[in-house]
Amino acid sequence: MPIQYFTGLSAFTELPNHLQKMVAKIEDRAGLGIEVERSSNRTMACEFRKGKAVIRVPAAGPLRKASVFHELLHLKRHFVDGVPKLVYCDDDHEFEDENDARTPEQFQCLDNQIEHLFIVPTELTRYRKERSYWEERMDKSLDLMRAPCDVLLAWEFIHRVLNGGTLSDKVQALVEPLSV
Ligand SMILES: [Zn+2]
Repeated sequence: MPIQYFTGLSAFTELPNHLQKMVAKIEDRAGLGIEVERSSNRTMACEFRKGKAVIRVPAAGPLRKASVFHELLHLKRHFVDGVPKLVYCDDDHEFEDENDARTPEQFQCLDNQIEHLFIVPTELTRYRKERSYWEERMDKSLDLMRAPCDVLLAWEFIHRVLNGGTLSDKVQALVEPLSV
């Protein structure tokens, strides 16, 4: 299938100027065209590495401006600001079991959680209404969260990004048993 580019989407021309400019800046600095893939998920996502950047967009419906901004902030941090990406890169390691085989995915997840501490505050200054989305998403993820590292990053996110708020007590109850 031929590569589709983000700027080639008909919805791209309907995006606000600041988002179109951001795309141009990222592409210029990275020396690549941001590709686009349709996804069955309802939410957007992005994937990037040296020489490649892809934004996944829902198969149907318009592009949500705040989500475009969020994904572009991920790409900007890497390609424009030069923030390194945390990746698992021990090619010689043979995974012992299913849990061990999830290590690269866990690195990716950790990188994403750390990046959100920087990206989401910028997102919320422009799209204030997204706060309720992040509160809801964090609330749901706290119900599934058990790894100490995830709990500590959630605590940081809730205090640094959401300024405490309604989830303070809930995350505190998860941090206390960790005795940190
Ligand atoms: Zn993100």
